[in-house]
Amino acid sequence: MNNNIENLCLSLLTKCKTLQTTKQLQAFMCKNGLENHPLLAGKLLLHCVLTISDALDYGRRLLSYSPRPDAFMYNTLIRGLAESDSPDNAVHAFMEMRLKSISPIDSFTFAFLLKAAANLRCFRFGMELHCQALLRGLDTHLFVGTTLVSLYAECGSLNFARKVFDEMFQPNVVAWNAILTACFRCGDVKSGQELFERMPIRNLTSWDIMLAGHVKAGELELARRTFLGMSLKDDVSWSTMIVGFAQNGCFDEAFGLFRELHQLGLKPNEASLTGVLSASAQAGAFEFAKILHGFIEKAGFVWIVSVNNALLDAYSKCGDVRMTQLVFERMSERKSIVSWTSMITSLAMHGYGARAIQLFHKMENHGIKPDGVTFISILYACSHAGLIEEGQRYFSKMRDINIEPTIEHYGCMVDLYGRAGKLEKAYEFACEMPVSPNAIIWRTLLGACSLHGNVKLAEEIEKRLSRLDPNNSGDHVLLSNTYAIAGKWEDVASVRRSASEQKIRKAPGRSTIEVEKLVYSFVAGQKQNEVVKEAYEKLREIMLRLKVEGGYVPEIGSVLHDIEDEEKEDSVNMHSEKLAVAFGMARLGQGKVLRIVKNLRICRDCHVVMKLISKVYGLKIVVRDRSRFHSFEAGSCSCGDYW
Ligand code: ZN
Ligand code: ZN
Repeated sequence: MNNNIENLCLSLLTKCKTLQTTKQLQAFMCKNGLENHPLLAGKLLLHCVLTISDALDYGRRLLSYSPRPDAFMYNTLIRGLAESDSPDNAVHAFMEMRLKSISPIDSFTFAFLLKAAANLRCFRFGMELHCQALLRGLDTHLFVGTTLVSLYAECGSLNFARKVFDEMFQPNVVAWNAILTACFRCGDVKSGQELFERMPIRNLTSWDIMLAGHVKAGELELARRTFLGMSLKDDVSWSTMIVGFAQNGCFDEAFGLFRELHQLGLKPNEASLTGVLSASAQAGAFEFAKILHGFIEKAGFVWIVSVNNALLDAYSKCGDVRMTQLVFERMSERKSIVSWTSMITSLAMHGYGARAIQLFHKMENHGIKPDGVTFISILYACSHAGLIEEGQRYFSKMRDINIEPTIEHYGCMVDLYGRAGKLEKAYEFACEMPVSPNAIIWRTLLGACSLHGNVKLAEEIEKRLSRLDPNNSGDHVLLSNTYAIAGKWEDVASVRRSASEQKIRKAPGRSTIEVEKLVYSFVAGQKQNEVVKEAYEKLREIMLRLKVEGGYVPEIGSVLHDIEDEEKEDSVNMHSEKLAVAFGMARLGQGKVLRIVKNLRICRDCHVVMKLISKVYGLKIVVRDRSRFHSFEAGSCSCGDYW
């Protein structure tokens, strides 16, 4: 055999990045009679199974045609299958291996099989393997032991994992890391911490596991301290911390850390970027999203679908349909179902029902099959644009393409009928649902009753709600508002009395606004600090001008002030969204769009005020409330006062 050709094949193999080139190399090997060369055939299989994506099936075929398959080849295949989407195939490969009496079945075989069992979360299969390993005396092998620890953790049995670990002879750092992960996976933070303290040696991975454990338990302060205490940090450490901050609502901390990472000249990974983008989305931090966008373009992340989807979501949640559309178009052929759905949702939340429907059809024409989430978006689009017939059509279309509607889809339908004032139809629909309606659905309908002043139905629904979810403050407000619209003042008073007797407290309204890349948050009735004082002062000045120039009359007397207002005594003037707008007007230069995010729905009075500000001051204001976007310009709102 020619040693030179052998070496050539081996070096060529490392350069094959696609299945296509690998096949070419295989043809070259055949031509030189090397296709069954023991070393080369094994390496070729390893390359297909572990290095090249989408070549696992090809690897399987290579092995099945091999005249002299050996244990190395089978172990390789089992390893690849264990990590694949269908780990159960690893078991079939193992049975084939035994059928063909291929030996030795060694610690590697077991470790890879245990990995398959862990990925299948199959406790019984794992136990069986454990027993077989015991019989063969392989359970004391470090590699097998470590995989056993991970397997039991994956199946939620920390006790078993601990027992295996305690019986291990001189566990190495990998084994220690496995038991540490096991503790956090099973939610035992205390044991995790103790083990970490006891570890004879720790590597960077140990620290990263500890960090992730704290973040998962919501212990941000501990995580921060761990992070600061790390002398070495890698990609994982940074992204764990950034994502942790973002998920726990600490947006400024997430932004700050990302800036620090950038200033240190380090390149963020995909997880850090999507984490910080999600923080921008949640906080409605438009300026920061734009900076990130620039960075993504420059640093060459434009090709990564998940990053693009996160950017799409950020622009969408910041209320900028134009930029959302721009990112969407630029993704060209790389759009995933998530991208399409985000774009549809963005249009829907701005009330562009017809455009959302158009895009839905375009998506189907591109051969992308909508999923359950896409249908929620499209039904939402229909209900927020008052498109009843279209909504009904999409709802029945779901069944046609075998997507079973969930309670969210039913909720969208109730909302669709309710918003349009078809209250009886909505009620009927809710009563006839195959799943029993939850509090959210009844609450949606109660909101519709309040909007349309249907007292009789509202009382009926409130009865159902008080059984399902007795302590919800919003329901009382909705009911009292329904009475108010119908002019039944005594009933309004009695609902409010009973609510205060039951000490039902409402979630405080909170609005945020980004100014100079910092996110400021306002809560109704919060303690006065410099920022709040500044906002109040500006607000007083604004309200005065609105009264003089805009003819503003506050809606305090009518109690029509809303679906869920903050209900403080001097009430509507203190609403958080007004404070946020005032603060933005005090700090931001002319010509800037004011972008506000509110946790509850915007109330009628604030809606009126925003419209007037946009007219009197010639400003554009975008408010994202719990339910949709409102774009105020030249005295009117994009929602057409329908929300
Ligand atoms: Zn308000
Ligand atoms: Zn509006």
